[in-house]
Amino acid sequence: ACGLELLRDPQYNKGLAFTDKEREYHYLTGLLPPTVLTQQMQENRILHNLRMYQDPLHKYVAVMDLQERNERLFYKVLIDNVEELLPIVYTPTVGEACQKYGSIFRRPRGLYISLKERGKVLDVIKNWPEKLVQVIVVTDGERILGLGDLGCQGMGIPVGKLALYSALGGIRPSACLPITIDVGTNNEALLNDPFYIGLRRRRATGEEYASFLDEFMSAVKQAYGEKVFIQFEDFANHNAFELLAKYQRTHLVFNDDIQGTAVVVLGGLLAALKLTGGTLADHTFLFLGAGEAGTGIAELIALEIAKQGNVSLQEARRKIWMVDSKGLIVKSRWESLQHHKKNFAHEHEGCRDLLSAVEALRPSVLIGSSGQRSTFTKEVLETLASYNQKPVVMALSNPTSHAECTAEEAYKWTQGRAIFGSGSPFDPVKLNDKLHISGQANNAYIFPGTGLGVIISGAIRVHDDMLLVAARALAAQVSKENLDKGLVYPPFQSIRKISANIAAAVADKAYELGLATRLPRPADLVGYAESCMYSPQYRNYR
Ligand code: NAP
Ligand code: MN
Repeated sequence: ACGLELLRDPQYNKGLAFTDKEREYHYLTGLLPPTVLTQQMQENRILHNLRMYQDPLHKYVAVMDLQERNERLFYKVLIDNVEELLPIVYTPTVGEACQKYGSIFRRPRGLYISLKERGKVLDVIKNWPEKLVQVIVVTDGERILGLGDLGCQGMGIPVGKLALYSALGGIRPSACLPITIDVGTNNEALLNDPFYIGLRRRRATGEEYASFLDEFMSAVKQAYGEKVFIQFEDFANHNAFELLAKYQRTHLVFNDDIQGTAVVVLGGLLAALKLTGGTLADHTFLFLGAGEAGTGIAELIALEIAKQGNVSLQEARRKIWMVDSKGLIVKSRWESLQHHKKNFAHEHEGCRDLLSAVEALRPSVLIGSSGQRSTFTKEVLETLASYNQKPVVMALSNPTSHAECTAEEAYKWTQGRAIFGSGSPFDPVKLNDKLHISGQANNAYIFPGTGLGVIISGAIRVHDDMLLVAARALAAQVSKENLDKGLVYPPFQSIRKISANIAAAVADKAYELGLATRLPRPADLVGYAESCMYSPQYRNYR
């Protein structure tokens, strides 16, 4: 064996952690300086270096370089320091990285499938070196985070999400495949940028787009079989709903922007019930924003109300109201409403703005999924608090600068009575000597565990009931001590344990529904999920 290959392959490389014996056995002696380090010492050194960078983008590049060089060390550093590194590997830094993707990258990661390859998509997929793929995250780059159309440079998103699948959900890195489908971009700046890495054309739409995605979806199934889990990520909302509805019936698909968000928010609301008392059906929900996130959450809340209270979905949906850019969604707007909003168009007079909707409907739960900053104004929150003992407020819009309100505003304008959660993290707030800690409705609580549950059970479809149990499993991880501080999400440090519990709940439901193919069902699903999780400890080479 050639020792140099061990050093150059990130899946095998251990750098200075190769022992003297290993160096001797694999002809590495002399190719490394004489010191032998433990993996822990290497981690300390990496962290030391990372913390010297001021610019988060520099940290991002350094972390991604490590992934290219020494995969196990990358995952160990990520797992051991998840709270510190999540904002680097994922939002918000990954957004900036995508904007500059063309210029910061030395080595490509993931698979690019462009319109040039129409008719030959399966051949392109076969170029991917790993034959055993379990999770694909795919984007077409049209709505990257809150940054809009980044075309081919959206690749940072599938790469980042899959790093989290491995770090937080324990999916083996080699079983993860990031894909960007390049159908062009409508981003003028990119089209005119000489360093742009994607196709130089406007986006394909209509039949041209649909048939290309069709070719892609069948090629994936042909290459990797029925049980590859396909996560759609950051598609524009005019495609996202349709793609999910279309491929739900034939493929194992999951849309994190719609479904993952729905699960994490429902989980937070279920935990919040332990503070407000009562059941979900006792509440009235008002959303600002009726897009992928908003209507996805609304549908899942309705489903949970229907299950808990044994009522029809239609009846459950009547508890939920939505405001979009044109005001309150009501029956009289039916003709011009997009399909995904129609279920929430109830009989009512129109309201122009959020404040008048709050006054008219007197919600107990206010959810922001609009992308519009400072829309939960002082008047809105004071009105909400005027008739609710414990109003629940979720300001989900990312990044922080887009949040509907800050944590401080939420507490201040409700005299400290709000139960608050947000999309981007906020520091604790001290108000009248009480410290309020708010939870972050981060999708990373959900998608890794859900994917793991699907994989360990060999599920062939994602059923809505699997999403409900994932939300309940998340809520069950919130302790009494968390709740006492106002937290409706569990601390992130224990994310691997949280993921294992979510995976077990999802797998259990898959077995119950007859959707699982991995038989017999393990008796202890939590233990089984944990035993399946990838560990980044180095292996010994003898
Ligand atoms: P989207 O599909 O584009 O939907 C945005 C919605 O907001 C649309 O219904 C839009 O109305 C509405 N809207 C825009 N401006 C408005 C205004 N001034 N007043 C009232 N409504 C307005 O986007 P999305 O994917 O749902 O994402 C929305 C936000 O949620 C983003 O900021 C994203 O960061 C955040 N998000 C958070 C999480 C999380 O916390 N875990 C997860 C996913 C998304 P029209 O329909 O009339 O255009
Ligand atoms: Mn997303």
